[in-house]
Amino acid sequence: MTPTTGRVAIITGAARGIGAAVAKRLSSDGYAVAVLDLDESACSETVDALTSTGGRALAVGVDVAEAPAVEAAVARVADELGSPTVLVNNAGITRDNLLFKMSEDDWDAVLRVHLRGAFLMSKATQAHMTKAGWGRIVNLSSTSALGNRGQANYATAKAGMQGLTKTLAIELGKFGITANAIAPGFIVTEMTKLTAERLGVSFDEFQQARAKETPVPRVGQPEDIAHAVSYFVSEGASFVTGQVLYVAGGPRG
Ligand code: NAP
Repeated sequence: MTPTTGRVAIITGAARGIGAAVAKRLSSDGYAVAVLDLDESACSETVDALTSTGGRALAVGVDVAEAPAVEAAVARVADELGSPTVLVNNAGITRDNLLFKMSEDDWDAVLRVHLRGAFLMSKATQAHMTKAGWGRIVNLSSTSALGNRGQANYATAKAGMQGLTKTLAIELGKFGITANAIAPGFIVTEMTKLTAERLGVSFDEFQQARAKETPVPRVGQPEDIAHAVSYFVSEGASFVTGQVLYVAGGPRG
């Protein structure tokens, strides 16, 4: 039996992309995995992939920025899978535009999902972690936290994720809980596909251009991020907290 056997991990935004890869990795590491996303039926592909390889998994539909829905989702995970002691705040959206064209709705929508979502999910799950005297929180930031043209809302949200992470690390350390952030560079997902569409370039061309400007001359894959999450939530990483790891094929931060 590995130390992870019986531990329950919640991954938000796990129907696809980075979240789905994290769910698969933590399942193969031995965790039972709750796959959370806006639409419960959209989670079935990820859940089927986990259960078909012998893992325990549960699909839960939830908007991470709605407090009562978050409370209900975490309670359901605790009832059906067990008390969650690992949380990966991965759900996210982009609403890119230059500042002078960015609407208040687009500003609010992005901050709502990333910041309010991570706040509510962390608040709801920390009760289980403090009770267990053990926990791991991983927040998805981004290289955009350092500033990125057309992303005033997203860059602000992703910088905010770093402040949240450091504060959670300070408050929760005495309960055996670590909190760390991962700041990915360009990762091949629906999110970056949408960015290519918005810029009017093909996804292939967009990837080639990003790879060219990266010291490790390739684009990132969701599994690159899943590997970093696996490290942060591991038993041996208990003295690593409040950190931001740039997983971007080159130095950042
Ligand atoms: P993605 O493919 O767009 O997946 C994001 C998932 O989050 C989607 O399934 C989406 O559901 C879900 N989601 C959105 N709003 C939600 C909400 N309110 N409640 C619950 N789920 C919600 O994106 P990704 O590229 O995998 O990104 C995952 C995370 O990594 C995000 O936080 C992103 O900002 C961050 N990140 C990505 C990159 C990159 O290059 N891809 C780089 C840096 C950081 P719907 O499809 O229904 O909207």
